[in-house]
Amino acid sequence: MAKKNNHKYIFVLGGVMSGIGKGIATSSIGKILQASGFRVNLIKIDPYLNVDAGTMNPTEHGEVFVLDSGLESDQDIGNYERFTGITSTDDDYITSGMIYKHVIEKERNLGYKGKCVEAVPDIVNEIVRRIKLSEQENRSDISIIEVGGTIGDYQNIMFIEAGRTLKLKNPRNVLFVLVSYLPIPAKIGEMKTRPTRMASGTLNSYGVQADFIIARSSIKLDEKRKEKLAISCNVPEKNIISAPDIESIYDVPVNFEMDRLGNKLLKSLGLKPKNKIDLTEWKDFVFKSKNTKKTLNIAIAGKYFDTGSFVLSDSYISVIEAIKFSSYVLGFKPNLTWLNSKDFDRTTKKIDSLKQFDGVIVPGGFGETGVEGKINIIKYVRENKIPFLGLCYGMQLATIEYARNVLGMKDAHTVEINSDTTNPIIDIMPEQKKKLEKNDYGGTMRLGSYPAVLKDGTIARKAYGVAEINERHRHRYEVNPEYIQKLEEGGIIFSGKSPDDELMEIMELSQKKHPFFLGTQFHPEFKAQPLSPHPLFTEFIKACGGKK
Ligand code: GLN
Repeated sequence: MAKKNNHKYIFVLGGVMSGIGKGIATSSIGKILQASGFRVNLIKIDPYLNVDAGTMNPTEHGEVFVLDSGLESDQDIGNYERFTGITSTDDDYITSGMIYKHVIEKERNLGYKGKCVEAVPDIVNEIVRRIKLSEQENRSDISIIEVGGTIGDYQNIMFIEAGRTLKLKNPRNVLFVLVSYLPIPAKIGEMKTRPTRMASGTLNSYGVQADFIIARSSIKLDEKRKEKLAISCNVPEKNIISAPDIESIYDVPVNFEMDRLGNKLLKSLGLKPKNKIDLTEWKDFVFKSKNTKKTLNIAIAGKYFDTGSFVLSDSYISVIEAIKFSSYVLGFKPNLTWLNSKDFDRTTKKIDSLKQFDGVIVPGGFGETGVEGKINIIKYVRENKIPFLGLCYGMQLATIEYARNVLGMKDAHTVEINSDTTNPIIDIMPEQKKKLEKNDYGGTMRLGSYPAVLKDGTIARKAYGVAEINERHRHRYEVNPEYIQKLEEGGIIFSGKSPDDELMEIMELSQKKHPFFLGTQFHPEFKAQPLSPHPLFTEFIKACGGKK
């Protein structure tokens, strides 16, 4: 652990526009500094006023990534965990909402002792306090802090100001990395540096000088433009890193290292690498991801795809990545098809199109839209022996489908959709019910890591290879305890249960009846990583590849 006053901070800021890969740049910097022997912690700052990401619509904000603690955070944290293998804590995620809430509560409790409370310095001080909590919690040497939004936004100024004040105290300990975009307008046909120079200028007007520029563009930056950026943005040429579009996000740390970014950052912070940066294992994974030939056709049936005219697969990013990791280790290339479950609400001939898939996933979800479609899809894959993986809602709906179509409980349902059903197979637990009655939606879910005990001789037990697991949850409803005996007698195997036997964590069908039919109440995708793919996804992919 670094000496107390010698902790290092790297602030990652965005220039020109959003969506250019600031999160991946942050994750990659974390990865290479970690590989050089330092303990790092990665912090995501979201400048919105929501206190967490839990109440946000995934089509607008992407996936809600749940931490072990249950904190509902931003999808960028998912990338941090996948790149670095770090298990994030509550302190690694900061929103303006959290900061303001804390300051206002402190003011109400006379925490400021009668003083006038102001954005500067009180909000800024609270941001710095939160950043320090994260570094202490992680006992890290270097904090890498991604400030959400783009330079010039009104919302993120306080966070940049926090970085500036940290640098003022200890100039050698703080770096600012500007991830910026250089467009090549179609009609002009050449790469333009002006927007990045404007972003750098705006940053200067905050009293902050970028130390590094990561120049994102569709192609490599040429020498002429590098020079131009160096002079106009006041950044040494060697600290301008060209970051062209590439095939896979997992290439980014490797590319950064080709430019020796790790050593350059360390040098600027007055540090020497503790060991030679070795990304061999990572490179193997990237190599496999590009050199697998056998294709698997996998369908994901959900509802969060259409925002206007384009598909937003960001809502399921952890699921997609989990599929990829397991496919690559087994030598497959997954070819994903998005099924809009609404299209299957009524049984039509269309259902037969499912035949073409090697496997089908029904991921998590909320509400009524497309639910009957998902149930129809599950019925089809069960009857036609197509490998099936249900995640959270997918597991609940698989249980409902079985109750309806195999056990004859025609109106079996979840009370989330039909509270009057005579067969509430999926129901709300009593404590949650009380909260919902008070409209307290923010705190009504089972969130975060919970243990489950696995039953011998099942797919789950075989896949994990251990008898007890911990997985992350995010749901309000559970399999109704009153139906468990009936469901088990009817053929459902609950292969994972909470240690007190109350909550059903995994359901599966015997492999004598179906090659792979399994659903989890939790979200295994949150713990899938490139270098340690998730065992349940791997078993699923194995089954999908069965015939190949
Ligand atoms: N809507 C379901 C519940 O709240 C499932 C949630 C999910 O899939 N994350 O229990």
